[in-house]
Parts: sequence; structure tokens; C-alpha cells
Amino acid sequence: MRHKLYLIIFMTFISLNYSHAQSLPPGFVPPALNPKGATLKIEPLSENVYALMSSKPPVDNAGFIVGEEGVLVIDAHINGMMAQQIIDAVRSVTNKPILYLVNTNGHADHTFGNYAFPKETKIITQKFTKIMMSPDMDERKSSNLGMIAGDRSVYKEVRKRMPDLTFNNYMEIDLGDITVELHHFGGGNTFGDTVVYVPSLKTAWTGNLILGEGSLPFLLIGNAKQYIETLNSFQKSLVDLEMIIPGHGLKTTSDIFDRYIDYLETLERAVTDAHNNNLTLEQSLNNISLEERFTIPVNLSSTNFYKGLHPFNVQKIYLEKKTN
Ligand SMILES: [Zn+2]
Repeated sequence: MRHKLYLIIFMTFISLNYSHAQSLPPGFVPPALNPKGATLKIEPLSENVYALMSSKPPVDNAGFIVGEEGVLVIDAHINGMMAQQIIDAVRSVTNKPILYLVNTNGHADHTFGNYAFPKETKIITQKFTKIMMSPDMDERKSSNLGMIAGDRSVYKEVRKRMPDLTFNNYMEIDLGDITVELHHFGGGNTFGDTVVYVPSLKTAWTGNLILGEGSLPFLLIGNAKQYIETLNSFQKSLVDLEMIIPGHGLKTTSDIFDRYIDYLETLERAVTDAHNNNLTLEQSLNNISLEERFTIPVNLSSTNFYKGLHPFNVQKIYLEKKTN
């Protein structure tokens, strides 16, 4: 039942996009994800697990796991050229087939590289992510121009390629000598956020659900309470987790849960108070400033995005409470 309701809300949401100017608070800029000039650096985490870290954060990271039977890749990046960098990275360490590709969410920057993978590669997503990928490609390219600063050449060659397999909450993939777990703990940044976990290495790829050291959550779909529940369930389920490879930004550790949950609880309380005191949106945006302990480190790239992120989150929660 809850899932059904969720789906209805979700279907309403996919027609919306955060690039629509009138729905944005002053100062918000989308993350700068144009991949031009970005390279993916191979970082071995063990003899068969590799992180692919973007040289130009917040441009997307990725990764891959090499098992006896073949390879599983995490995220396809934003176009065929970037996807080719991932494939080349895999080929630099193994000739084994790329059996699986997991998209951690349905955004363009995680899925637009899908078409560049071999046709025998099975693409796997959470079921809400598949819905998110279903609109017409021209429509998706147009509504995702903000994050590439309107540079249409980035999407020029991109063709639609949908998932072959979906899962609901959990899927386990046995690559022979190494097991990979796919988890959906609930909505966060998107409705279908997926965590790819390698238990033997206590390492997780978190997509947009956790954005890396020093970051804060991006409430693109709103609902701070849901995000908190998702993070709690994530933390409780993967108690051994140590290292996090985020979809964007710097590597981090499970210590970041405290920061994310503290921020979301503080935000939820502040906006609830503002709402109960009948503050307008403008007043709320002015009153609810970012508390000092959540300051974004100055050395973190994507400074402009992070400057506008907190007001974006405030507005999202405020408007949600108003309509409820
Ligand atoms: Zn992303």
C-alpha cells in the first residue's frame, strides 16, 4: 500500500525537474557535471575491487568489481565517451566479460552511458529507477541541460538503453569468488537510490544518497523524514560498512551518517517550527540558515552548488509541509 502511494507521488514527480527556474530558491545552481576534461582515475581498493574517481568533482565517480566469472560495473556515467573510459579502465586490468552494470539512480549522469556497454552486459536497476529512465530520450536530454551548463554536445550521441533486470529491495550477485549486494533502503535523493555493497571489503558505492566527505544531502525529492529513515535502515543493515565511494565527491567513511542525519533532523525541526509559526517561504529561507557545524569545507569543489543547496532543501521541505 505504502509502495503504491509512493509510486503515484513518484510518477507525478518525474514530470518535474529541478531545472525549472520558478521552483528554485535564489542562489541555487545545479551541480556542475559537464564531463569535458574529466578523467576517471583507477584506484585499486583490493586486488579485484576498483574505484573510479573523477579528476573533476563533482563530475561522477564510478567503479567495478572483478570476479572469477566476470565484471560488475557501478554506474554508466553521462555519455558514451565517459562510459568508454570506464570500459577502458576495466580492460586495463582484465579481459573478463562485463556481465553486469548497476545504475545507482536514474539521473542522466548515472545512466546516459548505458548504451556504450556491450549488448550482453545485463543492466540492473531498482524498479523506481527504471520508471525514472522511461521518458522519451529527447525530453530527458532537454530537461537535464542545467547540470551541463546547456552544452548539448555532451548528450549528442546518447541513445536510450533501459535496464534488463530490476529489483525491489535487495539483490545478490555472485561473481564466482566475490559477492556483491544491491540494496534499496528507501528514497533519499531519488526514489530508487541503490547502494552497491561489497561485504568482503566493507565498502559501498552510494550513488547520490551520500555525496562524499564534507557534503550534505540533496533533497531533490523532498521528504527529510523519509531520507532519515532510509539512512537509519542503511546504517542498521550494513553494520560492518567502513568505506564509502560516493556518486560524486570525495571518498568518505560511515562516520558521515551522523552528519547527514543530524543535518536532516535539524532541518526538519527548523522548517516545522517555521511552518507552525506561519512564516512565509521568504521568511523561512531568511531565518533558517545553515548551522556552523554543517559548513561545507572550503576545499570541496562544487562550492556554488553547495552554497545554494541548503536554501533548496529548506524550500523543498517548506513547500511539502504547505501542501500536506
Ligand atoms: Zn548523481
